[in-house]
Amino acid sequence: MELKITKTQNPKTKPTGALGFGKYFSDHIFTMEYSGGEWKNAQIKPYEPFMLDPSCSVLHYAQGVFEGAKAFKNAKGEVLTFRLKDNVDRMLDSADRVCIPAFDKAFVLDAIEQIILIDQDWIPSGEGTALYLRPTIIATEPALGVRAADRYLLYCILSPVGAYYSGGLKPVRLYVEQKYVRAAVGGTGGHKVIGNYAASLKAGENAKKLGYDQVMWLDAFKHRYVEEVGAMNIFFICGGKALTPALSGSILPGITRRSIIQLLRDMGIEVEETAVDIVKMAAAAKSGELTEVFGTGTAAVISPVGGFCYKGKDYVVGGGAMGKVSEALYAQLTGIQNGRIEDKYGWVKKLGAI
Ligand SMILES: *Cc1c(COP(=O)(O)O)cnc(C)c1O
Repeated sequence: MELKITKTQNPKTKPTGALGFGKYFSDHIFTMEYSGGEWKNAQIKPYEPFMLDPSCSVLHYAQGVFEGAKAFKNAKGEVLTFRLKDNVDRMLDSADRVCIPAFDKAFVLDAIEQIILIDQDWIPSGEGTALYLRPTIIATEPALGVRAADRYLLYCILSPVGAYYSGGLKPVRLYVEQKYVRAAVGGTGGHKVIGNYAASLKAGENAKKLGYDQVMWLDAFKHRYVEEVGAMNIFFICGGKALTPALSGSILPGITRRSIIQLLRDMGIEVEETAVDIVKMAAAAKSGELTEVFGTGTAAVISPVGGFCYKGKDYVVGGGAMGKVSEALYAQLTGIQNGRIEDKYGWVKKLGAI
């Protein structure tokens, strides 16, 4: 398939000042359509709104998936991506979960790399900043039947972002949710499927009303085993070991999670992917055995947790401050991403290099 490239004649003015998260978008968009049983019409073109029929399936039944990845510039101004191939692989898995037809992974990866290079002037250079990539697929068939659509749009937009949390790496306080669940085994929680996120909003709003920053999700069956925090994976440093919920089917297999497991092992810290019992974690917080808790995800990288509320009781973690392990992991991972620290794993790819 050919990738048609049309560059903009009217470049936008780039934002100055604080970028925030996902508020600004670059000059171009990559799009590719599926109809008549095949993916076609791949193009990079000026960023613009698109038209959708009000009846199209994604708007009614959320048949769609997305990804989140980042591109960076190193000190020499070279363009770097971090594990982008893993994101494209995961998007194909997510697509399969909601009956979106498979696409050519190598082609899509190459197209995303090309749009990053075209919009490389949009990659910010400040500490904690990046060009956030948002590949997405939506069902566009204009029809109301509940069934897999026969038309789709795959696209990728690019957004220069600052540090995810406006308060910087200030630890967040979590509300352990008892009533609502994010996902159940057998559902779509293990995939980056659009519908998962609307389902999580109510608990998030509720936590904020109660004075907490985010939700800690428990399993849907026993309401006892920790799953995730907000839309991030979660780690507990307890008795010198790192614990993270095993990928049970309802947990999103984060690429940051996988990277952090590797970095922890390199630091000589034992990692257990296991069932993490909130009752035990509450007791460990009380005894002081639980020294750090943090979330991991592409957007925030590491989000330290200063405490949590479980069954009406507040538990403080690490004196409410960011811990040593969290700090070291953040420095290590962002250092690798920015090309400041050697990448031993082949996670970083330099674009445009021969
Ligand atoms: C995207 C996401 C994550 C983190 O995945 P990364 O690949 O590390 O960005 C974790 N949980 C949920 C629910 C997510 O959507």
